[in-house]
Amino acid sequence: MSDTDCDVCIIGSGAGGAPVAWRLAQAGLSVLVLEKGPWLADQHFRKDELACCRRPVYTPEKRLEPHVVEDRNADGDWTATPTSESGWDFWNGNLVGGSSNLMSGFFHRLKPVDFRQLEAFGPIDGANRVDWPIGYDDLEPYYDQVEQLVGISGAIAKHPNIEPRSSADFPYPPTLEHPVSAWIGQACENLGYHALRVPRAILSRPALRRRSCEYSGYCGSFGCSSGAKGGARAAWLAPALATGRCAIRSHAQVLRLISDARGKVIAAEYADAEGQRRQVTAKRFVVACQAVETSRLLLNSTGPKFPQGLANNSGQVGRNLLFSAGGSGSGDLEYDALGPERAAALKTMGPFVNRALDDWYVIKDQSFAAGPHKGGIVEFMLAHPNPTGLANRAKWRDGELLWGLPLKRRLEQWFRADRTLRFEVFCDWLPNDDCFVSLDPSVKDRWGQPVARIRIGHHAQDLKVGRYLADKAERVLNELGAARVRSSISGSPPPNLMAGGCRFGTDPKTSVLDADCRAHEVENLYVTDGSFMPTGGSVPYTWTIYANALRVAERMLGEKPTGRSS
Ligand SMILES: Cc1cc2nc3c(=O)[nH]c(=O)nc-3n(C[C@H](O)[C@H](O)[C@H](O)COP(=O)(O)OP(=O)(O)OC[C@H]3O[C@@H](n4cnc5c(N)ncnc54)[C@H](O)[C@@H]3O)c2cc1C
Ligand code: SF4
Repeated sequence: MSDTDCDVCIIGSGAGGAPVAWRLAQAGLSVLVLEKGPWLADQHFRKDELACCRRPVYTPEKRLEPHVVEDRNADGDWTATPTSESGWDFWNGNLVGGSSNLMSGFFHRLKPVDFRQLEAFGPIDGANRVDWPIGYDDLEPYYDQVEQLVGISGAIAKHPNIEPRSSADFPYPPTLEHPVSAWIGQACENLGYHALRVPRAILSRPALRRRSCEYSGYCGSFGCSSGAKGGARAAWLAPALATGRCAIRSHAQVLRLISDARGKVIAAEYADAEGQRRQVTAKRFVVACQAVETSRLLLNSTGPKFPQGLANNSGQVGRNLLFSAGGSGSGDLEYDALGPERAAALKTMGPFVNRALDDWYVIKDQSFAAGPHKGGIVEFMLAHPNPTGLANRAKWRDGELLWGLPLKRRLEQWFRADRTLRFEVFCDWLPNDDCFVSLDPSVKDRWGQPVARIRIGHHAQDLKVGRYLADKAERVLNELGAARVRSSISGSPPPNLMAGGCRFGTDPKTSVLDADCRAHEVENLYVTDGSFMPTGGSVPYTWTIYANALRVAERMLGEKPTGRSS
Protein backbone atom coordinates (compact mmCIF):
# COMPACT_ATOMS: atom_id res chain seq x y z
CA MET A 1 0.00 0.00 0.00
CA SER A 2 1.39 3.42 -0.93
CA ASP A 3 1.18 5.90 1.93
CA THR A 4 3.07 8.94 0.64
CA ASP A 5 3.50 10.81 -2.60
CA CYS A 6 6.18 13.46 -2.93
CA ASP A 7 8.32 15.21 -5.53
CA VAL A 8 11.54 13.54 -4.44
CA CYS A 9 12.18 10.53 -2.21
CA ILE A 10 15.72 10.33 -0.83
CA ILE A 11 16.97 7.04 0.56
CA GLY A 12 19.69 7.51 3.19
CA SER A 13 19.97 10.70 5.27
CA GLY A 14 23.78 11.00 5.46
CA ALA A 15 26.38 13.10 3.68
CA GLY A 16 25.14 12.19 0.21
CA GLY A 17 21.40 12.52 0.83
CA ALA A 18 21.05 15.45 3.23
CA PRO A 19 22.43 18.29 1.04
CA VAL A 20 20.02 17.22 -1.73
CA ALA A 21 17.13 17.26 0.75
CA TRP A 22 18.08 20.78 1.85
CA ARG A 23 18.59 22.23 -1.62
CA LEU A 24 15.42 20.77 -3.14
CA ALA A 25 13.20 21.61 -0.15
CA GLN A 26 14.61 25.12 -0.13
CA ALA A 27 13.65 25.42 -3.81
CA GLY A 28 10.04 24.48 -3.00
CA LEU A 29 9.93 20.74 -3.77
CA SER A 30 8.33 18.28 -1.36
CA VAL A 31 11.01 15.89 -0.10
CA LEU A 32 10.74 12.71 1.95
CA VAL A 33 13.89 11.16 3.40
CA LEU A 34 13.79 7.47 4.33
CA GLU A 35 16.44 6.45 6.86
CA LYS A 36 16.99 2.96 8.24
CA GLY A 37 18.35 4.13 11.61
CA PRO A 38 16.89 6.05 14.55
CA TRP A 39 16.51 9.83 14.82
CA LEU A 40 18.72 11.09 17.65
CA ALA A 41 19.12 14.69 18.80
CA ASP A 42 22.24 16.50 20.10
CA GLN A 43 21.40 15.66 23.71
CA HIS A 44 21.40 11.93 22.97
CA PHE A 45 25.08 11.93 22.04
CA ARG A 46 26.82 11.04 25.28
CA LYS A 47 30.51 10.17 25.45
CA ASP A 48 29.74 6.60 26.45
CA GLU A 49 33.05 4.85 25.81
CA LEU A 50 31.82 1.33 26.42
CA ALA A 51 28.76 1.73 24.25
CA CYS A 52 30.70 3.25 21.35
CA CYS A 53 33.54 0.71 21.44
CA ARG A 54 31.98 -2.53 22.55
CA ARG A 55 28.33 -2.40 21.60
CA PRO A 56 26.81 -1.46 18.27
CA VAL A 57 24.90 1.63 19.43
CA TYR A 58 24.91 3.37 16.04
CA THR A 59 25.08 0.34 13.77
CA PRO A 60 22.95 -2.79 13.30
CA GLU A 61 23.75 -6.05 15.05
CA LYS A 62 25.90 -8.07 12.67
CA ARG A 63 24.01 -11.22 13.66
CA LEU A 64 20.85 -9.72 12.12
CA GLU A 65 22.43 -7.69 9.34
CA PRO A 66 25.81 -9.09 8.30
CA HIS A 67 27.91 -8.44 5.25
CA VAL A 68 29.93 -11.19 3.62
CA VAL A 69 33.56 -10.22 2.99
CA GLU A 70 35.65 -11.95 0.34
CA ASP A 71 39.32 -11.78 1.27
CA ARG A 72 42.25 -13.33 -0.61
CA ASN A 73 43.72 -16.31 1.26
CA ALA A 74 47.32 -17.59 1.27
CA ASP A 75 46.67 -19.70 -1.88
CA GLY A 76 45.47 -16.63 -3.76
CA ASP A 77 41.82 -17.80 -3.72
CA TRP A 78 38.92 -15.81 -2.29
CA THR A 79 37.46 -16.82 1.07
CA ALA A 80 33.99 -15.52 1.93
CA THR A 81 33.22 -14.93 5.61
CA PRO A 82 30.10 -13.29 7.10
CA THR A 83 30.96 -10.36 9.38
CA SER A 84 28.81 -12.02 12.08
CA GLU A 85 31.67 -14.56 12.30
CA SER A 86 34.73 -12.42 11.55
CA GLY A 87 33.73 -9.47 13.77
CA TRP A 88 34.65 -7.09 10.94
CA ASP A 89 32.14 -4.26 10.53
CA PHE A 90 31.20 -2.53 7.27
CA TRP A 91 28.39 -0.51 8.86
CA ASN A 92 29.58 2.95 9.84
CA GLY A 93 26.71 4.90 11.37
CA ASN A 94 23.06 4.12 10.76
CA LEU A 95 21.06 6.97 12.17
CA VAL A 96 19.58 10.19 10.85
CA GLY A 97 22.61 12.03 9.43
CA GLY A 98 24.45 8.77 8.75
CA SER A 99 28.07 8.16 9.60
CA SER A 100 28.83 11.86 9.16
CA ASN A 101 27.53 12.19 12.76
CA LEU A 102 30.59 10.24 13.87
CA MET A 103 33.27 11.68 11.61
CA SER A 104 36.29 13.60 12.89
CA GLY A 105 35.64 16.41 10.41
CA PHE A 106 39.10 16.55 8.79
CA PHE A 107 38.03 18.31 5.62
CA HIS A 108 40.00 18.27 2.38
CA ARG A 109 39.06 19.18 -1.17
CA LEU A 110 40.21 17.00 -4.01
CA LYS A 111 42.89 18.61 -6.15
CA PRO A 112 42.48 19.36 -9.89
CA VAL A 113 44.73 16.41 -10.79
CA ASP A 114 42.27 13.98 -9.14
CA PHE A 115 39.75 14.69 -11.89
CA ARG A 116 42.15 13.69 -14.68
CA GLN A 117 44.34 10.94 -13.31
CA LEU A 118 44.39 8.95 -16.53
CA GLU A 119 45.48 11.97 -18.54
CA ALA A 120 48.08 13.01 -15.94
CA PHE A 121 49.61 9.64 -15.03
CA GLY A 122 48.50 7.20 -17.73
CA PRO A 123 47.01 3.73 -17.33
CA ILE A 124 48.27 1.18 -14.79
CA ASP A 125 48.12 -2.55 -15.46
CA GLY A 126 45.39 -4.18 -13.39
CA ALA A 127 43.70 -0.87 -12.53
CA ASN A 128 40.58 0.71 -14.06
CA ARG A 129 41.87 4.26 -13.89
CA VAL A 130 39.65 6.81 -15.69
CA ASP A 131 39.16 10.57 -15.83
CA TRP A 132 36.07 12.17 -14.33
CA PRO A 133 33.37 13.56 -16.64
CA ILE A 134 33.60 16.87 -14.77
CA GLY A 135 36.61 18.94 -13.77
CA TYR A 136 37.69 20.63 -10.54
CA ASP A 137 36.25 23.94 -11.79
CA ASP A 138 32.78 22.36 -12.01
CA LEU A 139 32.91 21.37 -8.34
CA GLU A 140 34.77 24.38 -6.92
CA PRO A 141 31.70 26.65 -6.48
CA TYR A 142 30.07 23.88 -4.43
CA TYR A 143 33.16 23.27 -2.28
CA ASP A 144 32.94 26.98 -1.58
CA GLN A 145 29.21 26.86 -0.72
CA VAL A 146 29.86 23.94 1.64
CA GLU A 147 32.34 26.07 3.57
CA GLN A 148 29.59 28.60 4.27
CA LEU A 149 26.64 26.26 4.75
CA VAL A 150 28.32 23.58 6.86
CA GLY A 151 30.61 25.98 8.69
CA ILE A 152 34.20 25.05 7.95
CA SER A 153 36.89 26.48 10.20
CA GLY A 154 40.38 27.09 8.89
CA ALA A 155 42.83 29.66 7.59
CA ILE A 156 44.49 30.01 4.23
CA ALA A 157 48.24 30.34 4.57
CA LYS A 158 50.92 30.39 1.91
CA HIS A 159 51.45 26.78 0.85
CA PRO A 160 52.82 25.26 -2.36
CA ASN A 161 49.92 22.86 -3.01
CA ILE A 162 46.84 24.84 -2.09
CA GLU A 163 43.83 24.09 -4.35
CA PRO A 164 42.44 26.95 -6.48
CA ARG A 165 39.57 28.66 -4.63
CA SER A 166 37.01 31.32 -5.43
CA SER A 167 36.83 32.88 -1.96
CA ALA A 168 39.74 34.44 -0.13
CA ASP A 169 39.53 32.50 3.12
CA PHE A 170 37.41 30.20 5.29
CA PRO A 171 34.27 31.69 6.87
CA TYR A 172 35.32 30.66 10.41
CA PRO A 173 38.74 30.96 12.08
CA PRO A 174 40.65 27.75 12.85
CA THR A 175 39.58 25.62 15.78
CA LEU A 176 41.84 25.82 18.83
CA GLU A 177 45.14 24.06 18.27
CA HIS A 178 47.13 21.83 20.55
CA PRO A 179 50.70 22.91 21.48
CA VAL A 180 52.03 19.86 19.60
CA SER A 181 50.84 21.45 16.31
CA ALA A 182 53.62 24.04 16.47
CA TRP A 183 56.18 21.32 17.24
CA ILE A 184 55.05 19.36 14.19
CA GLY A 185 55.30 22.54 12.10
CA GLN A 186 58.86 23.10 13.29
CA ALA A 187 59.88 19.47 12.68
CA CYS A 188 58.48 19.67 9.14
CA GLU A 189 60.33 22.92 8.49
CA ASN A 190 63.60 21.35 9.70
CA LEU A 191 63.08 18.56 7.17
CA GLY A 192 62.15 20.92 4.33
CA TYR A 193 58.50 19.78 4.37
CA HIS A 194 55.47 22.11 4.33
CA ALA A 195 53.00 21.41 7.14
CA LEU A 196 49.45 22.11 6.00
CA ARG A 197 46.86 23.60 8.35
CA VAL A 198 43.86 21.27 8.07
CA PRO A 199 40.38 22.80 7.84
CA ARG A 200 37.71 21.19 10.03
CA ALA A 201 33.98 20.82 9.51
CA ILE A 202 33.60 22.05 13.07
CA LEU A 203 32.36 25.48 14.14
CA SER A 204 35.03 27.46 15.96
CA ARG A 205 32.41 30.02 17.03
CA PRO A 206 28.61 29.90 17.41
CA ALA A 207 26.84 30.31 14.07
CA LEU A 208 24.17 28.81 11.81
CA ARG A 209 21.95 28.25 14.89
CA ARG A 210 24.55 25.88 16.31
CA ARG A 211 26.89 26.16 19.27
CA SER A 212 30.65 26.23 18.82
CA CYS A 213 33.02 23.39 19.61
CA GLU A 214 33.39 22.51 23.29
CA TYR A 215 36.64 20.57 22.68
CA SER A 216 35.29 17.43 24.24
CA GLY A 217 38.32 15.48 23.05
CA TYR A 218 35.92 12.77 21.90
CA CYS A 219 35.17 13.67 18.30
CA GLY A 220 35.87 10.85 15.82
CA SER A 221 33.53 7.86 16.40
CA PHE A 222 31.38 9.91 18.79
CA GLY A 223 28.33 12.07 18.09
CA CYS A 224 28.49 15.79 18.88
CA SER A 225 26.26 17.15 21.62
CA SER A 226 27.12 20.82 21.00
CA GLY A 227 25.99 20.91 17.37
CA ALA A 228 29.42 22.22 16.31
CA LYS A 229 30.30 19.25 14.14
CA GLY A 230 29.12 19.73 10.57
CA GLY A 231 27.61 16.29 10.15
CA ALA A 232 24.62 15.94 7.81
CA ARG A 233 22.03 16.02 10.61
CA ALA A 234 23.13 19.32 12.13
CA ALA A 235 24.35 21.05 8.97
CA TRP A 236 21.78 20.08 6.31
CA LEU A 237 18.77 18.27 7.75
CA ALA A 238 17.93 20.84 10.44
CA PRO A 239 17.67 23.68 7.86
CA ALA A 240 15.89 21.32 5.43
CA LEU A 241 13.23 20.59 8.07
CA ALA A 242 12.91 24.32 8.79
CA THR A 243 11.63 24.88 5.22
CA GLY A 244 8.50 22.91 6.17
CA ARG A 245 8.81 20.95 2.91
CA CYS A 246 11.10 18.14 4.05
CA ALA A 247 10.06 15.18 6.18
CA ILE A 248 12.28 12.45 7.57
CA ARG A 249 11.04 8.96 8.27
CA SER A 250 13.43 7.09 10.57
CA HIS A 251 13.48 3.31 11.13
CA ALA A 252 12.60 2.95 7.44
CA GLN A 253 14.71 0.19 5.89
CA VAL A 254 14.30 0.48 2.13
CA LEU A 255 14.21 -3.05 0.72
CA ARG A 256 13.82 -2.36 -2.99
CA LEU A 257 12.92 0.22 -5.58
CA ILE A 258 10.01 -0.81 -7.75
CA SER A 259 10.24 0.03 -11.45
CA ASP A 260 7.57 -0.19 -14.15
CA ALA A 261 7.54 -1.66 -17.65
CA ARG A 262 9.02 1.57 -19.06
CA GLY A 263 11.96 1.33 -16.67
CA LYS A 264 10.99 4.26 -14.40
CA VAL A 265 11.09 3.95 -10.63
CA ILE A 266 7.57 4.26 -9.26
CA ALA A 267 7.95 3.44 -5.56
CA ALA A 268 10.33 2.63 -2.74
CA GLU A 269 9.30 -0.31 -0.58
CA TYR A 270 10.48 -0.16 3.01
CA ALA A 271 10.04 -2.00 6.30
CA ASP A 272 9.05 0.24 9.21
CA ALA A 273 10.00 -0.14 12.88
CA GLU A 274 7.34 -2.83 13.36
CA GLY A 275 8.48 -4.73 10.28
CA GLN A 276 5.41 -3.62 8.28
CA ARG A 277 6.04 -3.26 4.53
CA ARG A 278 5.14 0.18 3.17
CA GLN A 279 5.57 2.02 -0.10
CA VAL A 280 6.38 5.59 -0.98
CA THR A 281 5.68 6.96 -4.46
CA ALA A 282 7.55 9.94 -5.87
CA LYS A 283 8.43 11.60 -9.16
CA ARG A 284 12.17 11.18 -8.61
CA PHE A 285 14.32 9.00 -6.35
CA VAL A 286 17.77 9.71 -4.93
CA VAL A 287 19.78 6.83 -3.46
CA ALA A 288 22.47 7.69 -0.89
CA CYS A 289 22.88 4.66 1.37
CA GLN A 290 26.73 4.72 1.36
CA ALA A 291 28.68 2.88 -1.31
CA VAL A 292 28.14 -0.78 -0.34
CA GLU A 293 24.47 -0.45 0.58
CA THR A 294 23.64 1.72 -2.45
CA SER A 295 24.95 -0.97 -4.81
CA ARG A 296 23.19 -3.65 -2.79
CA LEU A 297 19.84 -1.81 -2.94
CA LEU A 298 20.09 -1.40 -6.72
CA LEU A 299 21.08 -5.06 -7.18
CA ASN A 300 18.14 -6.16 -5.01
CA SER A 301 15.75 -3.98 -7.08
CA THR A 302 15.06 -6.13 -10.10
CA GLY A 303 12.14 -5.16 -12.34
CA PRO A 304 10.61 -5.86 -15.75
CA LYS A 305 13.37 -3.98 -17.57
CA PHE A 306 16.12 -4.75 -15.08
CA PRO A 307 16.54 -8.50 -14.52
CA GLN A 308 20.07 -8.02 -13.07
CA GLY A 309 19.14 -5.14 -10.79
CA LEU A 310 18.05 -1.53 -11.25
CA ALA A 311 20.19 0.46 -13.71
CA ASN A 312 22.38 -2.60 -14.13
CA ASN A 313 21.84 -3.86 -17.65
CA SER A 314 25.46 -2.83 -18.22
CA GLY A 315 26.58 -5.08 -15.33
CA GLN A 316 28.43 -2.10 -13.82
CA VAL A 317 26.54 -1.69 -10.51
CA GLY A 318 28.81 -2.63 -7.62
CA ARG A 319 32.00 -2.62 -9.68
CA ASN A 320 35.07 -0.48 -8.92
CA LEU A 321 34.33 -0.16 -5.22
CA LEU A 322 36.90 2.11 -3.54
CA PHE A 323 38.27 2.64 -0.08
CA SER A 324 40.91 5.01 1.17
CA ALA A 325 44.22 3.18 0.80
CA GLY A 326 47.19 3.65 3.11
CA GLY A 327 47.56 2.84 6.77
CA SER A 328 48.74 4.47 9.95
CA GLY A 329 51.69 4.90 12.26
CA SER A 330 52.66 6.42 15.57
CA GLY A 331 55.41 7.38 17.97
CA ASP A 332 55.39 8.01 21.71
CA LEU A 333 56.42 11.42 23.06
CA GLU A 334 57.84 10.61 26.49
CA TYR A 335 57.16 13.12 29.25
CA ASP A 336 60.55 12.56 30.96
CA ALA A 337 62.45 13.29 27.76
CA LEU A 338 60.52 16.50 27.12
CA GLY A 339 61.12 18.27 30.43
CA PRO A 340 58.39 19.63 32.71
CA GLU A 341 57.20 22.59 30.62
CA ARG A 342 56.77 20.74 27.35
CA ALA A 343 55.40 17.69 29.16
CA ALA A 344 52.71 19.86 30.76
CA ALA A 345 51.89 21.34 27.35
CA LEU A 346 51.66 17.90 25.81
CA LYS A 347 49.14 16.82 28.47
CA THR A 348 46.65 19.48 27.25
CA MET A 349 43.35 17.78 26.38
CA GLY A 350 40.77 18.99 23.88
CA PRO A 351 42.27 21.20 21.15
CA PHE A 352 43.01 19.67 17.76
CA VAL A 353 46.32 18.98 16.01
CA ASN A 354 45.12 20.09 12.54
CA ARG A 355 48.38 19.38 10.69
CA ALA A 356 48.89 17.35 7.53
CA LEU A 357 51.45 16.96 4.76
CA ASP A 358 50.50 17.00 1.10
CA ASP A 359 54.00 17.59 -0.33
CA TRP A 360 53.79 14.24 -2.13
CA TYR A 361 50.25 14.46 -3.52
CA VAL A 362 52.10 14.04 -6.80
CA ILE A 363 55.35 12.16 -6.20
CA LYS A 364 58.15 13.56 -8.33
CA ASP A 365 60.96 11.40 -7.07
CA GLN A 366 63.11 9.43 -9.54
CA SER A 367 63.93 6.88 -6.84
CA PHE A 368 60.19 6.09 -6.63
CA ALA A 369 59.17 6.20 -10.30
CA ALA A 370 60.62 7.55 -13.54
CA GLY A 371 57.83 10.10 -14.07
CA PRO A 372 55.36 11.90 -11.80
CA HIS A 373 53.23 9.49 -9.81
CA LYS A 374 50.00 9.90 -7.86
CA GLY A 375 50.79 10.06 -4.13
CA GLY A 376 48.67 11.18 -1.18
CA ILE A 377 48.62 12.92 2.19
CA VAL A 378 49.62 12.28 5.80
CA GLU A 379 47.36 13.51 8.60
CA PHE A 380 48.69 13.90 12.18
CA MET A 381 46.58 13.46 15.31
CA LEU A 382 46.93 12.60 18.98
CA ALA A 383 45.77 9.11 19.95
CA HIS A 384 42.06 9.02 20.80
CA PRO A 385 41.71 9.41 24.60
CA ASN A 386 39.04 6.73 24.94
CA PRO A 387 40.47 4.39 27.64
CA THR A 388 38.29 1.48 26.56
CA GLY A 389 39.67 1.71 23.07
CA LEU A 390 43.19 2.00 24.45
CA ALA A 391 42.76 -1.04 26.69
CA ASN A 392 41.37 -2.97 23.78
CA ARG A 393 44.49 -2.26 21.73
CA ALA A 394 46.92 -2.64 24.64
CA LYS A 395 45.70 -6.10 25.59
CA TRP A 396 47.82 -7.75 22.87
CA ARG A 397 51.65 -7.83 23.05
CA ASP A 398 53.59 -9.86 20.49
CA GLY A 399 50.51 -11.97 19.83
CA GLU A 400 50.04 -12.77 23.55
CA LEU A 401 46.90 -11.72 25.41
CA LEU A 402 47.79 -9.53 28.41
CA TRP A 403 45.56 -9.50 31.48
CA GLY A 404 45.69 -8.74 35.19
CA LEU A 405 48.77 -6.89 36.51
CA PRO A 406 50.78 -6.84 33.23
CA LEU A 407 47.81 -5.22 31.46
CA LYS A 408 47.38 -2.74 34.32
CA ARG A 409 51.07 -1.81 34.14
CA ARG A 410 50.86 -1.35 30.39
CA LEU A 411 47.83 0.92 30.69
CA GLU A 412 49.56 2.88 33.43
CA GLN A 413 52.45 3.44 31.01
CA TRP A 414 50.04 4.70 28.32
CA PHE A 415 48.45 7.21 30.66
CA ARG A 416 51.42 8.34 32.75
CA ALA A 417 54.68 7.97 30.81
CA ASP A 418 54.00 9.28 27.34
CA ARG A 419 51.46 10.51 24.82
CA THR A 420 51.14 8.86 21.43
CA LEU A 421 51.24 11.01 18.32
CA ARG A 422 49.62 9.19 15.42
CA PHE A 423 49.48 9.69 11.70
CA GLU A 424 47.21 8.32 9.02
CA VAL A 425 48.24 7.90 5.40
CA PHE A 426 45.62 8.51 2.72
CA CYS A 427 46.30 7.49 -0.86
CA ASP A 428 44.29 6.32 -3.84
CA TRP A 429 42.74 2.87 -3.74
CA LEU A 430 43.21 2.06 -7.42
CA PRO A 431 39.89 0.87 -8.88
CA ASN A 432 40.28 -2.76 -9.95
CA ASP A 433 38.29 -5.83 -10.98
CA ASP A 434 38.82 -7.53 -7.60
CA CYS A 435 37.04 -4.90 -5.54
CA PHE A 436 33.27 -4.95 -5.96
CA VAL A 437 29.87 -5.50 -4.36
CA SER A 438 27.56 -8.35 -5.36
CA LEU A 439 24.65 -10.11 -3.65
CA ASP A 440 25.46 -13.05 -1.44
CA PRO A 441 23.69 -16.16 -2.84
CA SER A 442 22.69 -17.55 0.58
CA VAL A 443 23.09 -15.08 3.49
CA LYS A 444 20.01 -12.94 4.15
CA ASP A 445 19.29 -10.10 6.57
CA ARG A 446 16.49 -9.87 9.15
CA TRP A 447 14.00 -8.90 6.39
CA GLY A 448 14.95 -11.85 4.19
CA GLN A 449 16.90 -9.70 1.69
CA PRO A 450 20.23 -10.96 0.25
CA VAL A 451 23.11 -9.16 1.97
CA ALA A 452 26.03 -7.47 0.23
CA ARG A 453 29.05 -9.61 -0.56
CA ILE A 454 32.12 -7.37 -0.69
CA ARG A 455 35.30 -8.46 -2.45
CA ILE A 456 38.15 -6.33 -1.14
CA GLY A 457 41.07 -6.87 -3.52
CA HIS A 458 43.62 -4.07 -3.66
CA HIS A 459 46.28 -3.09 -6.22
CA ALA A 460 49.90 -3.66 -5.21
CA GLN A 461 50.75 -0.08 -6.21
CA ASP A 462 48.63 1.26 -3.32
CA LEU A 463 51.00 -0.33 -0.81
CA LYS A 464 54.06 1.11 -2.52
CA VAL A 465 52.62 4.64 -2.38
CA GLY A 466 51.45 4.15 1.21
CA ARG A 467 54.90 2.99 2.32
CA TYR A 468 56.56 5.99 0.62
CA LEU A 469 54.29 8.38 2.54
CA ALA A 470 54.58 6.53 5.85
CA ASP A 471 58.38 6.77 5.66
CA LYS A 472 58.10 10.55 5.32
CA ALA A 473 55.75 10.72 8.30
CA GLU A 474 58.08 8.54 10.38
CA ARG A 475 60.85 11.04 9.69
CA VAL A 476 58.70 13.79 11.21
CA LEU A 477 58.11 11.71 14.35
CA ASN A 478 61.82 10.95 14.61
CA GLU A 479 62.60 14.65 14.21
CA LEU A 480 60.20 15.29 17.12
CA GLY A 481 62.23 12.85 19.23
CA ALA A 482 59.41 10.31 19.53
CA ALA A 483 60.19 6.83 20.85
CA ARG A 484 58.95 3.56 19.31
CA VAL A 485 58.19 5.10 15.90
CA ARG A 486 56.33 2.52 13.83
CA SER A 487 53.87 2.27 10.96
CA SER A 488 51.80 -0.27 9.14
CA ILE A 489 50.65 -0.06 5.54
CA SER A 490 48.26 -2.71 4.34
CA GLY A 491 45.71 -3.60 1.72
CA SER A 492 43.07 -4.00 4.39
CA PRO A 493 40.29 -1.49 3.65
CA PRO A 494 39.14 1.09 6.22
CA PRO A 495 35.35 0.53 6.05
CA ASN A 496 34.56 4.07 7.25
CA LEU A 497 36.00 5.54 4.05
CA MET A 498 34.24 3.86 1.12
CA ALA A 499 33.16 5.12 -2.30
CA GLY A 500 32.58 3.91 -5.86
CA GLY A 501 30.39 1.06 -7.05
CA CYS A 502 28.16 3.28 -9.25
CA ARG A 503 30.76 5.38 -11.07
CA PHE A 504 29.70 8.34 -13.14
CA GLY A 505 30.98 8.77 -16.69
CA THR A 506 30.01 9.50 -20.24
CA ASP A 507 29.87 5.90 -21.53
CA PRO A 508 26.82 3.87 -20.37
CA LYS A 509 28.77 0.66 -21.06
CA THR A 510 31.41 1.46 -18.44
CA SER A 511 29.54 3.66 -15.96
CA VAL A 512 26.24 3.57 -14.09
CA LEU A 513 25.58 7.32 -13.82
CA ASP A 514 25.92 10.23 -16.21
CA ALA A 515 27.82 13.42 -15.39
CA ASP A 516 24.81 14.67 -13.38
CA CYS A 517 24.75 11.44 -11.32
CA ARG A 518 21.52 10.38 -12.96
CA ALA A 519 21.39 6.67 -13.92
CA HIS A 520 22.06 6.23 -17.64
CA GLU A 521 19.32 3.60 -17.75
CA VAL A 522 16.67 5.15 -15.45
CA GLU A 523 15.53 8.70 -16.09
CA ASN A 524 14.19 9.43 -12.58
CA LEU A 525 16.96 7.83 -10.49
CA TYR A 526 19.99 9.64 -9.01
CA VAL A 527 22.84 8.47 -6.74
CA THR A 528 24.52 11.11 -4.58
CA ASP A 529 26.67 9.39 -1.95
CA GLY A 530 30.33 8.57 -2.65
CA SER A 531 29.27 5.76 -5.02
CA PHE A 532 29.58 8.13 -8.00
CA MET A 533 33.36 8.51 -7.62
CA PRO A 534 35.30 6.66 -10.36
CA THR A 535 38.60 7.33 -8.56
CA GLY A 536 38.81 8.25 -4.92
CA GLY A 537 41.53 10.86 -4.64
CA SER A 538 43.90 10.77 -1.72
CA VAL A 539 41.87 12.51 0.98
CA PRO A 540 38.78 11.63 3.06
CA TYR A 541 35.69 12.00 0.89
CA THR A 542 33.04 13.93 2.79
CA TRP A 543 33.66 17.47 1.54
CA THR A 544 33.54 16.13 -2.02
CA ILE A 545 30.35 14.16 -1.30
CA TYR A 546 28.68 17.28 0.14
CA ALA A 547 29.81 19.46 -2.78
CA ASN A 548 28.76 16.98 -5.43
CA ALA A 549 25.37 16.40 -3.79
CA LEU A 550 24.73 20.16 -3.97
CA ARG A 551 25.82 20.17 -7.61
CA VAL A 552 23.47 17.30 -8.47
CA ALA A 553 20.57 18.97 -6.63
CA GLU A 554 21.07 22.06 -8.76
CA ARG A 555 21.07 19.92 -11.88
CA MET A 556 17.82 18.33 -10.68
CA LEU A 557 16.42 21.84 -10.47
CA GLY A 558 17.75 22.51 -13.96
CA GLU A 559 19.85 25.41 -12.77
CA LYS A 560 23.40 25.06 -13.98
CA PRO A 561 25.19 23.33 -16.82
CA THR A 562 27.55 20.50 -16.02
CA GLY A 563 30.53 19.59 -18.11
CA ARG A 564 34.24 19.16 -18.21
CA SER A 565 35.60 22.65 -17.92
CA SER A 566 39.14 22.18 -16.69
C1 LIG B 1 34.58 7.27 12.80
C2 LIG B 1 34.51 7.98 11.49
C3 LIG B 1 35.36 9.05 11.25
C4 LIG B 1 35.31 9.72 10.01
N1 LIG B 1 36.09 10.83 9.84
C5 LIG B 1 36.02 11.52 8.66
C6 LIG B 1 36.78 12.71 8.48
O1 LIG B 1 37.50 13.15 9.37
N2 LIG B 1 36.69 13.36 7.29
C7 LIG B 1 35.89 12.91 6.28
O2 LIG B 1 35.85 13.55 5.22
N3 LIG B 1 35.15 11.78 6.44
C8 LIG B 1 35.19 11.09 7.59
N4 LIG B 1 34.42 9.96 7.77
C9 LIG B 1 33.64 9.44 6.62
C10 LIG B 1 32.28 10.11 6.43
O3 LIG B 1 31.48 9.88 7.53
C11 LIG B 1 31.68 9.51 5.16
O4 LIG B 1 32.53 9.82 4.07
C12 LIG B 1 30.30 10.06 4.81
O5 LIG B 1 29.43 10.08 5.90
C13 LIG B 1 29.74 9.19 3.70
O6 LIG B 1 28.50 9.69 3.28
P1 LIG B 1 27.39 8.71 2.72
O7 LIG B 1 26.21 9.54 2.36
O8 LIG B 1 28.01 7.84 1.69
O9 LIG B 1 27.04 7.73 3.93
P2 LIG B 1 26.42 8.03 5.33
O10 LIG B 1 26.73 9.41 5.77
O11 LIG B 1 26.80 6.93 6.24
O12 LIG B 1 24.85 7.95 5.05
C14 LIG B 1 24.23 6.77 4.58
C15 LIG B 1 22.89 6.64 5.28
O13 LIG B 1 22.08 5.72 4.54
C16 LIG B 1 21.35 4.92 5.47
N5 LIG B 1 20.93 3.69 4.81
C17 LIG B 1 21.74 2.68 4.38
N6 LIG B 1 20.99 1.71 3.79
C18 LIG B 1 19.70 2.13 3.85
C19 LIG B 1 18.47 1.57 3.42
N7 LIG B 1 18.41 0.40 2.76
N8 LIG B 1 17.31 2.26 3.68
C20 LIG B 1 17.35 3.46 4.31
N9 LIG B 1 18.50 4.04 4.74
C21 LIG B 1 19.65 3.39 4.50
C22 LIG B 1 22.35 4.69 6.58
O14 LIG B 1 21.72 4.28 7.78
C23 LIG B 1 23.02 6.06 6.70
O15 LIG B 1 22.35 6.90 7.61
C24 LIG B 1 34.43 9.28 9.00
C25 LIG B 1 33.57 8.21 9.25
C26 LIG B 1 33.59 7.57 10.48
C27 LIG B 1 32.65 6.43 10.72
S1 SF4 C 1 32.16 19.44 20.78
FE1 SF4 C 1 33.83 19.68 19.29
S2 SF4 C 1 35.27 18.03 19.81
FE2 SF4 C 1 33.32 17.50 20.80
S3 SF4 C 1 32.27 16.16 19.31
FE3 SF4 C 1 31.57 18.28 18.94
S4 SF4 C 1 32.91 19.06 17.33
FE4 SF4 C 1 33.90 17.24 18.20
